[in-house]
Amino acid sequence: MAGFISQESIDAVKDAADIVSVVSEYVKLDKRGSDYWGCCPFHGEKTASFHVVPDRNAYYCFGCHAGGFSAINFVQEMEKISFPEAVELLAKKFGVSLRYDDKGNEDYKVDHTKDDLKNLYNRLSGTFNYLLTQTKGADRALKYIKSRGITDDIIEKFKFGYAPQDKYWLKKFLLSKSFSKDLLDKSGLFSKNYPDMCLFSDRFMIPIFDERGDCVAMSGRVIPPADESQRKYINSPETVIYSKKHTLFALNLAKRSMSEKGFAIICEGPMDCIAYHQAGITNAVASCGTSFTEEHIQKLKRFAYSKELGNPVIYLSFDSDGAGKTATFKAILACRKAGFTVKVIRLTGGKDPSEILLKYGPDTLTADVNNAILDSDYLFVSLSHEYPVDTPEGKTRAAMSFFQYVDALQTDIQKETCLDQLCQKFNLSRQAVLRDYSNREAAVKRLQPRPEKNTESNLQNIKKDSELRALFAVCADTSQFNLMRRELNEDVFESSQAKQLFIIMEELYQNNNLSFSSICEHCEDQKLVQLITEGVTSGEYSANTEKIVQDSIALIRQRELVRQKEYILNRITGLGNPSTPEQAEELNSLLKEKMKIDSLLKAGDK
Ligand SMILES: [Zn+2]
Repeated sequence: MAGFISQESIDAVKDAADIVSVVSEYVKLDKRGSDYWGCCPFHGEKTASFHVVPDRNAYYCFGCHAGGFSAINFVQEMEKISFPEAVELLAKKFGVSLRYDDKGNEDYKVDHTKDDLKNLYNRLSGTFNYLLTQTKGADRALKYIKSRGITDDIIEKFKFGYAPQDKYWLKKFLLSKSFSKDLLDKSGLFSKNYPDMCLFSDRFMIPIFDERGDCVAMSGRVIPPADESQRKYINSPETVIYSKKHTLFALNLAKRSMSEKGFAIICEGPMDCIAYHQAGITNAVASCGTSFTEEHIQKLKRFAYSKELGNPVIYLSFDSDGAGKTATFKAILACRKAGFTVKVIRLTGGKDPSEILLKYGPDTLTADVNNAILDSDYLFVSLSHEYPVDTPEGKTRAAMSFFQYVDALQTDIQKETCLDQLCQKFNLSRQAVLRDYSNREAAVKRLQPRPEKNTESNLQNIKKDSELRALFAVCADTSQFNLMRRELNEDVFESSQAKQLFIIMEELYQNNNLSFSSICEHCEDQKLVQLITEGVTSGEYSANTEKIVQDSIALIRQRELVRQKEYILNRITGLGNPSTPEQAEELNSLLKEKMKIDSLLKAGDK
C-alpha cells in the first residue's frame, strides 16, 4: 500500500486520537483544572513539568522543552518513528480507516521498508528455529544448548535457531520466497563485500525482538568446540528497524512481568538474561552489543514502575570483574538521575547467572535476586574494597567517589540520609563531610558550565516584552488577531521575533488558516516555537486574553507615538529659525503634528 496518506485522513486521525488518552499510555497524568500534568517521558525528572492541554491538542515539557501539537507528534517522538508511521499506528488504535493518494505532501509519504524488513526477519527467525528443532544438520547446536540446561520451552519462547553451514543457502532461499534483492541488500544479513554470502554459518542463532515482538536483528553464537579464530558472537548490524541503543533483549517477553513485579532486572548480555528466564525470573532484559544507555533507561521507566514506591525500580546484574564494576557504577548514577530506585544483585557461587543456574539450580538464582542490596549499600562495600579507607587519603577518595552518587539523587532528604550513612560507615564527622561535599559541588560547578544553560539563556534573550506578550496572547486565542491587525502593522515591532511572528499570522489569516498549531508549524525558529508553546500551555493567557491584547496594543502604540514625537522634535531642531516661507510652513505643520501626538499620549496615559 504505497503512496501518500491523504490530508483528510491525517485530519481524521488528529480528531480521533485523544491526546490525553494517548499520552496516558506512557505517562501517569494528573488533572488540574482543565489541563493535565505528569513526569516528562523525554527526560528524567521526579516533579511533574510535563503539561498536556487537551483543548489545544498540545503537550509541552517545561524541563526539556519537548512539545507538539497532536497525539501524532507525541507518538512520533515517543516511539522514534516517522510521521506517517505514527499516523498509521494511531489510525489502527482509534479505528480510523486511512485513504492513500498517488501524490501529495512528501512528509506524508509512506515507506514500507520497515514493515518489509520486519516480515523478513520474522520469517527468518521461524526458518532458523525450524532448522534447529526439526533437522539433523543442527545436532551439534542442539546438543550444545541442551548442555547449558536450556529446555525445549525456552527454545520455543526465545525462538532460538540454527544457521546452516552453507553461506550461500540463505540468499537463494529468501529470493525463492519472493523477498526482493533490494530488501535483502538493506537487511544487513549479508556480507558487504560478498553480497551473496550470509554473515552466519553453522551458528546457534539468538533472534532479537523489539518490544512489540517483531524480530529486528540476529545474534549468532559459535558452537563449541570451535577454533580460536572464530568470533564468539556475530551480530547483524543496525538497520532502519534495529538501533542498539534503543533495543533491549527480551523486553517483549519481560514487559508484562516487569509491570506486575514493579521492577526490571538488567543484565550484561542475552545469555545471562536467558538464564534468569530459565529460572522463572521473567522480568529480566539485557542490552545487546552495547552498554546500557540513557535510551534504555527511559524505555524501562514505563514498564518497571513500582506502585508501592511511586517510582520505577531497577536491579542491576552485571559481571563482578573490573569492567562490570565500572558498568554498575555508571548505571547506578544514570538510573538515579532518571528517578529510579536502584538495587544491585550479588551472585553467589558463580561468575554469571547461567553458571549459577547450572551449578545450583533456580532457587539459588532466585535467592540472589531476593537478596539484592540497595545501591548505596553496594557502594559502601565496593568503595571500602577499592580504597584504603583506614587512611585519611583513602577515606577522602572514597568520599569523593560517593559524592557523585549523592549528586545523582533526586531529593535533599535522600542526599542528607546518604551523607549521614557515609559518616557512619567511614567514621567521619558530619561537619567535615558536609563541608567537603559543598566545596566539591562548588568546584564542579565552576569547572563545568552546563551546556543546557546556554539554551536557557538564549531563550531568555528573547524578551517577553509587550510585543511578544500580545502575540502569545493571540496564539492562545487566534480570534483576537482581527483586533491586532486593525491597530498594528509589521513595521511597529521592534523585536525581530515579534515581527516574524506577526508576518506568519497575517499570512495565515489571509489564507483563512490561522490557528495555534498552524502558527507553530509555520514558524521556523524552533526556540520561538518553544517559547510560544511554553507561554500558551502555561495558561498565562487563557484568562482575559482580550485585555492582554488590548493593553499590549496600547503600549506598542504609545511607544510608536513617543518615537514619532522624537522624530518630529529632531526635525524641528534641525530646521532652526525658519528663514523662508516654506520653512515656516513646515515648522507650523510639525508643531501641529506634535500637539496631536501630545494629546494622544495624554489620552493614552489615562
Ligand atoms: Zn522533558
